[in-house]
Amino acid sequence: MRSQTLVPDAGEVTLYEMKEGGSGLVMVLRPVSEESRCPACNQASGRVHSRYKRQIADLPWEGIPVRIELRVRRFFCATNDCAQRIFTERLPNTVERHGRRTCRLSRVLDRIASEMKLPSKPLFSTTGAMVSLKVTFIV
Ligand SMILES: [Zn+2]
Repeated sequence: MRSQTLVPDAGEVTLYEMKEGGSGLVMVLRPVSEESRCPACNQASGRVHSRYKRQIADLPWEGIPVRIELRVRRFFCATNDCAQRIFTERLPNTVERHGRRTCRLSRVLDRIASEMKLPSKPLFSTTGAMVSLKVTFIV
């Protein structure tokens, strides 16, 4: 059985703050790990270059839209001759590399689109809008 948590993946991110934002809730998340691995050479690094925020749509709570403000870091690669001198940490269980919605929201939207026989990617990714769904799962 799959465990459900407040955050998309408790092994990758932790809840820093919860606040109201616009028409819904905002969860401010931070990565759990102190370091990240370079995607080019796989060397771990804890030397932070900079930080920035990503805005990501998440599953709604009782019909209330939820947005995640993910605080992501860029690291210096620890390998001297690596071509990737600076890299952005990846949180593959939380959000895809350039994704604008959480992996769990994508799974739900894909499942709904599949059930409705709709093409999920073009319908949901080109609008750029936050998606609010009230979904009842029958177990
Ligand atoms: Zn590297």
